[in-house]
Amino acid sequence: MAAKKPWYRQLHWQILIGMVLGVIFGVFGALNGLHGFIEDWIAPWGRIFLNLLLLIAIPLVLTSLITGVASLSDVNRLSRLGGKTIVLYMATTAVAITIGLGLANIMRPGDYVPTELAETLQARYQAETGEREATAALTREEGPLQPLVDIVPGNFFSSASSNRNMLQMVFVALLVGIVLIQLKTEHTEVVYHFFEGMNQVIIKMVDLIMYIAPLGVFALLADTIVRVGEDPDQIIELLGALSYYCIAVVLGLILHVLIVYTSLINFLTPMPLRKFLAAITPVQLVAFSTSSSGATLPVTMERCQDELGVSEEVSSFVLPLGATINMDGTALYQSVAALFIAQALGLELGFVAQLTIVFTALLASIGSAAVPGAGIIMLVIILNAIGVPAAGIALILGVDRILDMCRTATNVTGDCTVATLIAHSEGEKLKVD
Ligand code: ASP
Repeated sequence: MAAKKPWYRQLHWQILIGMVLGVIFGVFGALNGLHGFIEDWIAPWGRIFLNLLLLIAIPLVLTSLITGVASLSDVNRLSRLGGKTIVLYMATTAVAITIGLGLANIMRPGDYVPTELAETLQARYQAETGEREATAALTREEGPLQPLVDIVPGNFFSSASSNRNMLQMVFVALLVGIVLIQLKTEHTEVVYHFFEGMNQVIIKMVDLIMYIAPLGVFALLADTIVRVGEDPDQIIELLGALSYYCIAVVLGLILHVLIVYTSLINFLTPMPLRKFLAAITPVQLVAFSTSSSGATLPVTMERCQDELGVSEEVSSFVLPLGATINMDGTALYQSVAALFIAQALGLELGFVAQLTIVFTALLASIGSAAVPGAGIIMLVIILNAIGVPAAGIALILGVDRILDMCRTATNVTGDCTVATLIAHSEGEKLKVD
């Protein structure tokens, strides 16, 4: 067995140190008027790191999913794997929403927002609220089967040109993979080996990119902090009024991770919890820093394969799908936020409205793109469904970034949990020591 690296050479410590230094530097910069310096000299390193991750996200989904599916012995195995994955993803999301609703009903965070503040916030964020509402309106105007239509791209290159279209890439890769299972000829072997080779190249790139992860997260956090801290008085005022709301969301996320994910790993797999957490900490930290499950996907795949022992076959199917459709953190946040806004605006939501939240949040989390701030756009659709004015999102826009970081970390934890569970259920030997 390879000798254990000293702590300071372990990736999760390096990233954590990068994050802490980023926060400290960001606060220092905000207090000393270094906005310009951070914007010009620090923030670009964060964007480079983020771009590198985004650059390989789509090629990674494509090559790994094609090779993953094509290496399955038959299509039946694929449907079994797909069925299990989707059921687990939906079930964990439903539990997350229930936890969110439960907490929001018990804590009633919306009752703590003074009416004048609610009005001020709505006026202050009017423009931004309008933008989100307009984006959500585009989705809403579509027919009931539009989400299904959206999965099937009409042009490969236009769908490969945006990371928002990850689900379309999953679809294309599945299609190519299925055909490769069915068509085993000398020529298709070449195609398979090409994708396999490309996949190895991209995975090696992840290793290289992770060398600059500590610098990347340092820059991303320093930049986020100076941006948020541009007006410290406003932040303090907001945090004061919204503290119950933020606590409800973060508490819900922690409970979901502690109860649902740890139980699944503990009781249904042989994976020791400590080992699981140590393996996925870098994934959570990158998700927290980038606020994007899509950008984190390369790291998620690498850690699940190398550290947890999830096979390429399973991880390349379960994880890209998870990054796009499994968003427990987002769903939980959406349910708390919907109730919070209703409470703050003095609207009581009965049983039917809350049940509507369960269904719409389940669908909205599936439909949310794996990019920063996607959750709040889909929240508009939930609010519409329950008859709460969508302008209410103005109340929570000011603290959305920080909650986005937390919910994205939860989203990727859910993906890793389900991948480990599926790998074990498929009889794979996980790296338990
Ligand atoms: N940023 C989240 C993600 O990428 C989505 C959201 O909730 O906004 O997982």
